[in-house]
Amino acid sequence: MDIKITKTAHPKEKPDQKALGFGKYMSDHMFLMDYTEGIGWHDARIVPYAPIPMDPGAVALHYAQETFEGLKAYRTAEGKIQLFRPEMNARRMINSNRRLCMPPFPEDMFIEAVKAIVTVDADWVPSAPGASLYIRPFMFTTECQLSLHNSKEFLFCIICSPSGAYYEEGINPVKILVEDEYVRAVKGGTGFAKCGGNYAGAMIGQEKAEAMGYSQVLWLDGQERKYVEEVGGMNIMFKINGEIWTAPCEGTVLPGVTRDSMITILKEWGYNVREERLSIDDLMAYCEKGQVEEIFGTGTAAVISPVGVLNYRGNVQTINNNEIGELSLKLYTYLTDLQWGRIPDTHGWIVPVC
Ligand SMILES: *Cc1c(COP(=O)(O)O)cnc(C)c1O
Repeated sequence: MDIKITKTAHPKEKPDQKALGFGKYMSDHMFLMDYTEGIGWHDARIVPYAPIPMDPGAVALHYAQETFEGLKAYRTAEGKIQLFRPEMNARRMINSNRRLCMPPFPEDMFIEAVKAIVTVDADWVPSAPGASLYIRPFMFTTECQLSLHNSKEFLFCIICSPSGAYYEEGINPVKILVEDEYVRAVKGGTGFAKCGGNYAGAMIGQEKAEAMGYSQVLWLDGQERKYVEEVGGMNIMFKINGEIWTAPCEGTVLPGVTRDSMITILKEWGYNVREERLSIDDLMAYCEKGQVEEIFGTGTAAVISPVGVLNYRGNVQTINNNEIGELSLKLYTYLTDLQWGRIPDTHGWIVPVC
């Protein structure tokens, strides 16, 4: 792929590495590439970060034909920069795009584009403990078209945001509200696709939870509102009587890269991992009997997010004394050690950039 690079004449001042937060600051450059039906992907370029001119009639603005990804670049103690399983993000985006009738962005080009933008903005990859460069590839329809037909023009972009350690004051468990009114995904829908529309439809549950003093929503299946599926932007796992339960990826759950990595590691550590449907009634009954040892969300941003409190229809259960569990901490330590290059990569998950 031939990438034309135009560097900014006005590099921005770097934000304080101790107060990065998440997704607040953007790096100096962005990657763009156009798709035109009949031509394919063309004009790969890295340009100064700037607004993207849009036709007000662009399909993405009206019919939400948009997909995205999320991964990180990590700076090792030696100052090198590396990625974690970027091919998984590339493949997932192809699957998301297929569901939204958007052309695939080929895997090798995806990885090349990510490496290129991270290399150009290498000085934006933070070195503070736990901080990283969050990478956000996304794609949408640019064509002006209000009638309901598929488009002929798309734009693939990558923007990057230096982000702080997710846990600046230690890993504090979160309070989760089980949502029994709204649903996020149904069989045959777009639940497995990483697309903006899923988040738009889920926002109301998040608002409701926050208003009640909870930080996230646990979604139930869309058909019966009976089985636990996932949390906002994270998958969720339950350690019950020594076994690990997590919802199967059968169309309604987002197949997380962190989820997949945790399952692999847990199996290597000898755990029985049950990718099976678990009903909320069974889960609450296990909680009441004191058999739920740990609950944790898994995702790129937080890696592991322990759940300390679970509320289902006013039945409030405290998990593991509202403390991070032993296994959650062990998984968190193992994965972050791998990502920051503190332990050898025995899985072939690390991709060096520069
Ligand atoms: C991105 C995302 C996840 C987590 O996926 P990772 O690849 O582990 O970051 C889980 N659920 C939803 C809805 C997501 O959008």
